[in-house]
Amino acid sequence: MLTTENSKKWMKNFAKKIDEKKDELSRIDSIVGDGDHGNNMSRGMHEVIEQFEVQNPQTITEVFKVTAMSIMNKVGGASGALYGTAFLEMARESRNSEKLTDMLQASVDKLMKRGGAKLGDKTMLDTWIPVTQAIKENRLDEDTIQLAVDNTKSIRASKGRSSYIGDRSIGYPDLGALSSSYLFQSLLETEDIL
Ligand code: ADP
Ligand code: MG
Repeated sequence: MLTTENSKKWMKNFAKKIDEKKDELSRIDSIVGDGDHGNNMSRGMHEVIEQFEVQNPQTITEVFKVTAMSIMNKVGGASGALYGTAFLEMARESRNSEKLTDMLQASVDKLMKRGGAKLGDKTMLDTWIPVTQAIKENRLDEDTIQLAVDNTKSIRASKGRSSYIGDRSIGYPDLGALSSSYLFQSLLETEDIL
């Protein structure tokens, strides 16, 4: 079950993983986009950890709100707005339900509305949608997460900056789908949430 403590731990684990993967994220973004995704996400997640210290969130709602605000304040580009939206929606839904799947579903719905993308459009939703479904069915594992990212490789980008390069985006994973895979791997590695 999600608690204030383990939700914080989840975000800290995500921050650590982003730091480990940031060069890889930016390397791929330098081919399909503007090369900033790894540094963007890393800057945002460092701010999240700092703001946990400063603001000391005491509820799940506060944990995700601080996360959303920190990312929105520090991360430019599409991903800042979209991750910010996702975590803000989790914060909002956490007032109605204590179930993680309800929070994730609320974020998926909002991301689709906000960005106009759906499953298969080569965006972060290609990770969020199947992962949310897998958690609902109590079967999230590493393979499910990895497969979701791998599935984006054969798709031609139609949203965001990588759509500018058209067919040349084929063969590369979507960056938001990849960074989101680290979010959900971190979830798997954080004890007692799932
Ligand atoms: P930018 O493209 O502005 O430099 P980033 O490189 O930080 O932003 O993030 C790009 C990621 O944002 C994409 O890989 C994709 O997952 C996500 N993204 C872009 N546009 C959309 C959209 N309309 N809906 C959902 N996700 C999107
Ligand atoms: Mg970019």
